[in-house]
Amino acid sequence: MKKNLRFRIAMLAGKAAYIGQKMMKMNASYFPGKLAIRLCPDFLGRIDKPKTVLAVTGTNGKTTCCNLLLNILEDQGYDVISNKLGSNINAGIASTLIGGSGFTGKAKHEMALFEIDERSSKRIYPFVKPQYVMCTNLFRDTVTREANPEFVFHLISEALPKETKLVLNADDLISSRLAPANERTYFSIAQLPTDTPECENIVNDMRLCPECHSPLKFEYVRHHHIGRARCEKCGFSSPEAKYEAQVDLKAGTMVLDGTTYKLMGDSLFNAYNLLGVVSLLREFGMPEEKIAQSLQKLNIVESRYSSEKIGNTTLITHMAKGKNAVACSCVFDYVRKEEGTKEVMLVLDDLFDRRGSSENICWYYDADFEFLNDPSIKRIVIGGVRALDLKLRLLIGGVPEEKIVCAMSETETPALLKMDADKIFVLHELYLTKPAMELRGQIRERLQKEGGVTNEN
Ligand SMILES: [Zn+2]
Repeated sequence: MKKNLRFRIAMLAGKAAYIGQKMMKMNASYFPGKLAIRLCPDFLGRIDKPKTVLAVTGTNGKTTCCNLLLNILEDQGYDVISNKLGSNINAGIASTLIGGSGFTGKAKHEMALFEIDERSSKRIYPFVKPQYVMCTNLFRDTVTREANPEFVFHLISEALPKETKLVLNADDLISSRLAPANERTYFSIAQLPTDTPECENIVNDMRLCPECHSPLKFEYVRHHHIGRARCEKCGFSSPEAKYEAQVDLKAGTMVLDGTTYKLMGDSLFNAYNLLGVVSLLREFGMPEEKIAQSLQKLNIVESRYSSEKIGNTTLITHMAKGKNAVACSCVFDYVRKEEGTKEVMLVLDDLFDRRGSSENICWYYDADFEFLNDPSIKRIVIGGVRALDLKLRLLIGGVPEEKIVCAMSETETPALLKMDADKIFVLHELYLTKPAMELRGQIRERLQKEGGVTNEN
């Protein structure tokens, strides 16, 4: 696309907004692009793109993957721009490109790395054609934004440029089928001891063969529709992976083609994130020893999880992304499988700050609250205006009523713990990290005072 007058005016306005916001110490990651697209709707098509564009999309793990990729690429000496600090919709991509261009719209960097929102596919891919797109996975997410995974699948699949090479998760029966005509490579985690013959989750969005609609036969299920399956009627099966890793979550290692990588934490999601990143970089041509070398230097702290031992009790905070039933189910599964007895505190209320909240709680019925009905869980404490909705969900999940304690305000919850279990889990929604940390502080104080013990860490 040519740089017409309209583009040049939009470019100058966007650049002025970018410089202005930067001078005001703002991160200029949305508004300059929003303004430029308002003035010139095909702005993204007309601005120069760096020679190489890499992109990451998918339901869960986009940000983690982009952070890892950016760190490795920069460590290896690449000159990269990215939308790391900002928005992953078209305005965010435009703002990043404006920041990385001169006043005429000429690119100043050799590479761009973009996190791309799944629903923005149609507004981005016709204009920005990445050489590689890695898709982490596709799951049900916030229903009011994402509808269902089939809907999101088609949005991405139909928008992806035909020249883009895809790096896909072979274990994900939905996202592995994106844009079937595109060149592609797959990554996979080899069978794990925790895999099951049948799906234990309420939700499995891939029960039927996508080709002939006969029931699929799973070789094993990891969780939800993640696993390996085949159709006995038409011969459809999960794709074979070029990058197949052996993962040991307890030991915290991933082995791929003889190279051992250290995992960031013990969650399966993070193992997939690391594998996706390594696969994308290897496809891009980076030698595995260089990837391993850069990864060794990184000290990535798991921000979604923290654990401390106070006296005889381990206090754990763990993010359980609210309105995201799959992420919550995986956290509930993790909690039930941990050793020892537990008290669990749920801080999932999206009405905590009384702003921008959703009235839609249908996702409670997609999440496996049944996993919290486990003999090792002695008590579940719920706080917030949705406490009774959550209590109802737990009762339907089979949790005995005497184990459930509710308070209409989160601040009252630390007092409701009995502190008689080996572990206390505070499971909190992403946007409630700060209040959850305050609750954690109160619990810590109670443990130190009442236990009469000192912090061992
Ligand atoms: Zn079939």
